[in-house]
Amino acid sequence: MSFDPLNIKKDFPIFKNNNLVYLDNASTTQKPKQVINSMVEFYENYNANVHRGVYGIAEKATLVYEKSRNIIANFINANNEEIIFTKGTTESINIIANAINKDLQTGDEIIISEMEHHSNIVPWLMLSKYKNIKIKYISMLNDGTLNISELKKIISKKTKLISVTHMSNVIGTINPIKEIINLAHQSNIKVLIDAAQSISHIKIDVKKLKCDYLVFSGHKIMGPTGVGILFGKNNLLKKIPPLLGGGHMIKEVTLQKFSYNDIPWKFEAGTANIAQAIGLGEAIKYLQKFEYNELHSHTKKITNHLIEKINKVPNIILYPENRKLIGPVISFSIKNIHSYDLTKLLDTQGICIRSGHHCAQPLLNKFKLESLNRVSLYFYNTIDDINIFYDKLIYVIKLLN
Ligand code: PMP
Repeated sequence: MSFDPLNIKKDFPIFKNNNLVYLDNASTTQKPKQVINSMVEFYENYNANVHRGVYGIAEKATLVYEKSRNIIANFINANNEEIIFTKGTTESINIIANAINKDLQTGDEIIISEMEHHSNIVPWLMLSKYKNIKIKYISMLNDGTLNISELKKIISKKTKLISVTHMSNVIGTINPIKEIINLAHQSNIKVLIDAAQSISHIKIDVKKLKCDYLVFSGHKIMGPTGVGILFGKNNLLKKIPPLLGGGHMIKEVTLQKFSYNDIPWKFEAGTANIAQAIGLGEAIKYLQKFEYNELHSHTKKITNHLIEKINKVPNIILYPENRKLIGPVISFSIKNIHSYDLTKLLDTQGICIRSGHHCAQPLLNKFKLESLNRVSLYFYNTIDDINIFYDKLIYVIKLLN
């Protein structure tokens, strides 16, 4: 289907029901009616548990749930059994942190970067609380990119995992994950890619990337909240233990012992988020109706327009000032105006942007800041959205001065 940015918003009921300019897509994306309807359809017509009942609606629920897994697998070029439904990026990372915990020895190392979201920092720090392991950091250069030559130096024989974000949720940097993966694999180190931000903007092929694990959240790619993905290579998922035990993740249970189910179900204990998984499959189907190149060039066009406009705003500071390799995420502050005040006043004008630490306090500390404003775009945003945002921004800055 050809992509018409002016028409696209009609698919999103929230834009019909509210007069707003939504520029907080890095936090969560809006949902097209196709996604919402798919979940309503499940609850109204075939609500039943999956992989249990043999009656018609239960079989249909199982079929659509597993079809959704298949859509997601194809989307990132994985095999079905390598796609695990989780609650989101955070849970997916915690599953891996828990899984590798048992094999970590004193002195082992995990490498992350200075620009990670808290969900790719805290699970590793939690491990280091109870095990004598070391967390090392790839530092960030002044242009907002990662210091890859430093990574070559900090990798050691003790490094067990490198876990990095594909795209920063604060400054939009796109990291050279292929290079990081190649470097890691030369030393037999596993790599986890946090694709929470990139999944909605960059075509990902896990086979080409050769990443060991890749994680993302459904709600950042027009799917519902409460569902996310953990991709893991087949041979690794077979080896590592799940985080949760209970129904559905087992083959046989006695009062003394149990055996694991096959992957991916070994990792899906309990009743799944069935409606959400179905909704996520529908979101990917919706996205796939468009040509990626068209979406990409539209997003690039509106990002460039945003940068052009934002550079005209008096007393604005961009973070970092000289940005390289960026996605459609821009963080800024206005001299002498608190980010919260700015965001709250913009809200009175129908503009949704974020203020705060964006769950990346170590990154903000690097800029010696506690809080920042962030604008993040998605393909349903238009040039008009950015012009309105700019006019309202100028207006509220005047009010606050
Ligand atoms: N990593 C990154 C880069 C993110 O942007 C986010 C969400 N802001 C997360 C992890 C966590 O995602 P979730 O809250 O959906 O688990």
